[in-house]
Amino acid sequence: MKLHILAIAVHPDDIELGCAGTLIKHARKGQNVGIVDLTQGELGTRGSGPLRLQEAQNAAEVMGLKVRDNAGMEDGFFVNDKAHQLRLITYIRKYQPEIVIANALADRHPDHGRAGKLISDACFLSGLRKIETLDGNGEQQMAWRPKRVFHMLQDRFAEPTIIIDISDCFDEKMEAIKCYKSQFHDPSNNEPLTYIATDGFLKNIEYRDSLLGKRIGVKYGEGYICENIPGIDSFDSLLYPQMA
Ligand SMILES: [Zn+2]
Repeated sequence: MKLHILAIAVHPDDIELGCAGTLIKHARKGQNVGIVDLTQGELGTRGSGPLRLQEAQNAAEVMGLKVRDNAGMEDGFFVNDKAHQLRLITYIRKYQPEIVIANALADRHPDHGRAGKLISDACFLSGLRKIETLDGNGEQQMAWRPKRVFHMLQDRFAEPTIIIDISDCFDEKMEAIKCYKSQFHDPSNNEPLTYIATDGFLKNIEYRDSLLGKRIGVKYGEGYICENIPGIDSFDSLLYPQMA
């Protein structure tokens, strides 16, 4: 299935925290939107790989996605080398997205930056026809380069180059995040308290999205760092602040 937008990130839940609002918005337009998680997040202190896979599928339903695949890479130990690039290229060629959303290029968790670079490299290399890959049926895949790659903001704040208004998708975004019951705040969970399981963590997501929204004059926004300067059709595509 050809996708309009493919979001690729290393841990299931990275997407929900960073860009679920954007995905929900595009899925609502009837566009094909999907995700490839690179790992199962099996090193997460709480929960387990299989549990997070189930949580990820539940979140995909909330977001209205067409597909959510998993590349089966090793959490914490995957590297940006030829083998991993080729594996990721098979997914990019399979789904032929116009737009790829990727992990941040630098963040608190070292997996995020490494994945951001791996995704970026694979998107470029995927367009080179002399790199040959096979699909699941052993058929040669067509070269495909996504038109644009955007890196989402994650734990560390970075100045975005573009902000998308997600005000009317914010509630569904939080609903998708809360599908990861094993990861986030739950007073009845007796597993060790982690950085992301504190009760303030999800509030911080709301504060960040609210601050990003404020920058463009709307209630909530999601910010991206663009690999290339994005073009707009005319100044009429701009959002204007609602108040003087
Ligand atoms: Zn992560």
